[in-house]
Amino acid sequence: MSDKPNNNTPNPRGLDVLRDPLLNKGTAFTEKERDALGLRGLLPPHVLSQSEQVERVLMNLRRLTDPLDKFVALNSLHDRNEALYFRVLCDHIDEMQPIVYTPIVGLACQQFGNIFQRPRGMFIGANDRGNIANVLRNWPHKAGIIVVTDGERILGLGDLGANGMGIPVGKLSLYTACAGIHPRLCLPITLDVGTNNDALRNDMNYVGLRQRRITGAEYDAFMEEFMAATQEVFPGVVVQFEDFANHNAFRLLEKYRDRVCTFNDDIQGTAAVALAGLFSALRITGSPLSDQQILFLGAGEAATGIADLVVAAMVAHGLTRERALRKCWLVDSQGLVVQSRANLAEHKLTYAHDHPPVGDFLSAIKMLKPTAIIGVSAVGGTFTREVLEEMARINQQPIVFALSNPTSQAECTAEAAYRHTGGRALFACGSPFDPVELNGKTYVPRQGNNSYIFPGIGLGVIASGATSITNEMFMASAHTLAQLVTESDLEQGSLYPALPRICEVSSAIGVAIADIAYRRGIAGKPKPLDVQQDVQSQMFDPHY
Ligand code: NAD
Repeated sequence: MSDKPNNNTPNPRGLDVLRDPLLNKGTAFTEKERDALGLRGLLPPHVLSQSEQVERVLMNLRRLTDPLDKFVALNSLHDRNEALYFRVLCDHIDEMQPIVYTPIVGLACQQFGNIFQRPRGMFIGANDRGNIANVLRNWPHKAGIIVVTDGERILGLGDLGANGMGIPVGKLSLYTACAGIHPRLCLPITLDVGTNNDALRNDMNYVGLRQRRITGAEYDAFMEEFMAATQEVFPGVVVQFEDFANHNAFRLLEKYRDRVCTFNDDIQGTAAVALAGLFSALRITGSPLSDQQILFLGAGEAATGIADLVVAAMVAHGLTRERALRKCWLVDSQGLVVQSRANLAEHKLTYAHDHPPVGDFLSAIKMLKPTAIIGVSAVGGTFTREVLEEMARINQQPIVFALSNPTSQAECTAEAAYRHTGGRALFACGSPFDPVELNGKTYVPRQGNNSYIFPGIGLGVIASGATSITNEMFMASAHTLAQLVTESDLEQGSLYPALPRICEVSSAIGVAIADIAYRRGIAGKPKPLDVQQDVQSQMFDPHY
């Protein structure tokens, strides 16, 4: 596969090499390379190794105290030398992930216009209607995966319009850092359909169109043209939806999931990582998934996405769909989601059970006696002491997932979860928490981070040329992730592997996904003799 627009283009030399982030190695070009590429005199004479360059980058980053400055510094490294940027990310993923992705990327999106230096990815505007395929043809590489947002619901920060571009860029960085998807295959796209954020439209440095969002039929026609254009220009490209508002996220996924190789990470990636956490917790309790009663706080993309996959997994474990559905309950800002409530949003209807109304979460716990509570409400502190004590009263080992981000929105801290359950909670979090000491034991809570899942899914799909991303794949990725949790992880209360093992995790998930694609006849190529070797051979190695 050639990614060059014109194969007759002579190989770049001299400054063209230094200015191409995909070719540049900076001061690490060897003497031989300097001669061959016409770089002599264009670089300082001392040749550094890549490891020495990494140390220098870390030294400079760690000197910075302001998180946004760290983001800008890493971003400009990304613009100068991609291999070095990814080497830094891969080798120090614990330290770097919070900078290139949540929580600091949120700040970067809010300040996007002020810190903007060089464009990355593509902006496709409402004013490009009728011409979107041609706009996509301006991209110089053959894209294998697109992460796209329309900026309407950026993390928990709301409508940031075109400033949302930090999200697809950051997410694709993780595809490469965590699963070795080649940077050339990655295309971040922001659809600038306007913004209803008045402050932004009036901000001198705002990078997007100064208009309100297009909606209704106009929005749908724009999306239809965009989705068709992605397949016309980059046939078979994976399109991952990211940070669309509820009212579009669910319908776009439904509309396109059978037509395009697509998924929504906020819904489906979250579901897989949460299901993996449940599988790990059940390894500790020894009870089957089908015996669980799960109560969600929140009824949005994350909650219904997780509930849907849990139901599918329960059905796979032998329950009827009807019984499985009654094991998942949602509480939103109006109380328990029940049939008698008027004007429920469509995505909640599946879980609107026949049950008297219940006004608050604690009462719902007392009534439904859940074995697990999953917080995805984006409202901090809602797993109160009373909630946690009640969970500990009705369960020997209550499962408590406080998944909301950022830290200030977490339903409870790790400390509270362990303390108010006498150290019996099986806890996972959305934001990182430090280990907790309680009664002489150290608990190590780990993040149910989507980055355990989506990079591996992308890898498996690209490696096998899969034409769709199925529920079975999300379920398999949850099983694979949970199997990589060790006994000693479980002993210290960790329901996920340590983050530095993420490449191993992604590779295993990639193989599981590719296996399914070959087995189900949806791969784009014949099955190789050794699927694992084939998947791993396609992983980008940032070392030079
Ligand atoms: P969303 O906006 O789609 O859903 C939020 C839901 O919470 C809505 O249904 C809303 O009605 C409900 N809600 C609001 N106030 C409430 C209250 N006081 N009590 C009960 N419910 C209330 O958002 P989402 O995509 O579902 O994400 C929700 C949270 O989960 C965010 O904080 C997000 O960062 C986090 N999240 C974490 C992970 C992860 O840890 N892997 C993944 C995805 C989302």
